[in-house]
Amino acid sequence: MFTNAVKLLSVNKFDIKVDPSWLIIAALVTWSLSQQFFPDALPGQSPQSYLAMAIIAMLGLFASLLLHELAHSVVARHLGVPIKSITLFLFGGVAELEAEPKSGLTEFWIAIAGPLMSLTLALGFWSLSGAATLTGLAPAVTSVLSYLALINLVLALFNMVPAFPLDGGRVLRAYLWHRSGDVLAATRTAARSGTFFAYFLMALGVTALFQGAIVAGLWQIMIGGFVLMAARAAYTNQLTKSVFDGHKVAGLMTRDPITAQPEMTLAAFVNQIMLKRNVTFVPVTEGSVLLGHIDRTVLSGIDRENWASTQVGDVFVGLHDAVMVAPDTLLPALMERIRKTGQRKFMVVSGHQLQGVITLSDLAAYLNQSVQSPAK
Ligand SMILES: [Zn+2]
Repeated sequence: MFTNAVKLLSVNKFDIKVDPSWLIIAALVTWSLSQQFFPDALPGQSPQSYLAMAIIAMLGLFASLLLHELAHSVVARHLGVPIKSITLFLFGGVAELEAEPKSGLTEFWIAIAGPLMSLTLALGFWSLSGAATLTGLAPAVTSVLSYLALINLVLALFNMVPAFPLDGGRVLRAYLWHRSGDVLAATRTAARSGTFFAYFLMALGVTALFQGAIVAGLWQIMIGGFVLMAARAAYTNQLTKSVFDGHKVAGLMTRDPITAQPEMTLAAFVNQIMLKRNVTFVPVTEGSVLLGHIDRTVLSGIDRENWASTQVGDVFVGLHDAVMVAPDTLLPALMERIRKTGQRKFMVVSGHQLQGVITLSDLAAYLNQSVQSPAK
């Protein structure tokens, strides 16, 4: 996620990044504030002052979002959950946790910290705008402060909707998790509420479109779509984690896998191994010595008419860390590696000895089987 995000600064050892998509928000907010919100709230000013007010308000919103995410991050770090970075993107901010909270209670405090910060900011800006009115500061200042009070209140309320992955949904999950001790069931319920809320938002958006509110309508549909995707991903992630947690590669790998020998011709390899055994990734061994592997990618680089005259030994890929994994590797770590590198098939190797083969399909099959007959 957020591969294009640009690191802006470091606050208290948190990397603050901005995804280019946030610029769309900045532009949209500035535009609608200067064209509509401020002219409505404070008639009779020049276009230049509306633009200035809009830019200051947008920067205030930017700072408010950052403080919201920083609140999550500071509490998370305080409770022992490391934080990778804070990224502002199209739909607001995300504090990327490096690990999942260990308990419902931990998650509760991390989740509630953001909305509490937004609520505090709303109160703060509201008091400041009151003070500005009393001391007779320019009405433009009061207007910007009132906007920031309002937008922080909206942020606090929106985020407290109990729909995962919004903060309120995390609070809901934390509560269910704390009560039942079953993080997977808690995630399922919270994700379901997220899905429901997402469809509700999208329906509102469609209604708004029919009423001619194009920007608001599209916006609600987009946020709904985002919540929908995030809710699904959160459940799948939790499912994978719950099923794979604590299990090692050795428990799931194919032991004594079929191997190819260097003196085999490619034609024999294809007919006797690939087609017959229905495998596409095969370790190459000589006696008990592991030499490397051969797979479909290697074959596709060689003309079919040469298969009879070419030997496996001429074309196989030598030992390579990218396709090897140790038998005591934990399955979540392997999943993470597959996600990061895209490599889906591995030789399980211990002390230069081939122990087995493990593939993404093995993991998927195990996951499927666990969902159909939950063991715990
Ligand atoms: Zn939040």
